[in-house]
Amino acid sequence: MNETVVVAGAVYDRGRLLAARRSAPPELAGRWELPGGKVEPGESAQEALVRELREELGIETEPLERIAGEWQLRPGLVLHAWTAKLLDGEPRPLQDHDELRWLAPEDADAVDWLPQDRPAVAEAMRILRTL
Ligand code: C5P
Repeated sequence: MNETVVVAGAVYDRGRLLAARRSAPPELAGRWELPGGKVEPGESAQEALVRELREELGIETEPLERIAGEWQLRPGLVLHAWTAKLLDGEPRPLQDHDELRWLAPEDADAVDWLPQDRPAVAEAMRILRTL
């Protein structure tokens, strides 16, 4: 069976990581995530990430590197994460989110992350400290 990949972006700018609070669906609303979405047929993960971040937040980004690991969301759906540099735009919650925050590494636990995103957030903060 083919698995669909959800690609999430650890978007960095000026030493901080972008966190997004979901507004839907109801079971996820209020929890925080690394923004992203499903890779569509014929798209690379990087292309999907650039597209999703443009659609959801109105920003232009450059994917940098895959964060090691993959996390099963449900049968047939697996989460990958990439670091990404903010190139242009001020993120705004255009779809799926109702609040955004830029978090410094010491504030990593200040928001209620979706459990499946926590390992990628921890690794993203580790990378951010080295930049
Ligand atoms: O954002 P979208 O609705 O396309 O995401 C598809 C699925 O991936 C949803 O079930 C969502 O909960 C999950 N997801 C996640 N962590 C993310 C991004 C999406 O668990 N950072």
